[in-house]
Amino acid sequence: MFPLNHTVASPSHIGLDLIGIQPGAPLDLDLRVESVSEGVLVSGTLSAPITGECSRCLAPFSERIEVGLTELFAYPASITEATTDEDEVARVVDDTVDLEQPIIDAVALELPFSPACRPDCPGLCPTCGVALASAEPGHHHDDIDPRWAKLTTMLPPDANGAVDE
Ligand SMILES: [Zn+2]
Ligand SMILES: [Zn+2]
Repeated sequence: MFPLNHTVASPSHIGLDLIGIQPGAPLDLDLRVESVSEGVLVSGTLSAPITGECSRCLAPFSERIEVGLTELFAYPASITEATTDEDEVARVVDDTVDLEQPIIDAVALELPFSPACRPDCPGLCPTCGVALASAEPGHHHDDIDPRWAKLTTMLPPDANGAVDE
């Protein structure tokens, strides 16, 4: 067994549309590589900066992600190679292992489907669309006079706030 502590540049954007690891971002690998009877077992953690867009207020934000990784790479001509699909168990090819796909899969499982810039992000004002986190305290709109209500339905939704002024 030998440790593999290495920082590599991310070869591509890893993740989802709204959130992920940027191409070229540093991937810190803290891994152990062990030879087992059927192949090579790689385990440990990966950490990297991720950038995303808040699903509530749409603001860009960044944080770090830490992902556990455990991947068996089967030796050529091993029983594991004979009895599994390449999709299920990766292969040792020319004495090397390719960690890219296992990393992509592990990161995808760890990323939030609804990323938020902070856990208590209040999102956008439903009336005018301003980000409530950066709006003045107590941001609100007076109820619209019923005589104006018909007019507001004729305006595009993001122009509603202008009626107050
Ligand atoms: Zn937010
Ligand atoms: Zn508002």
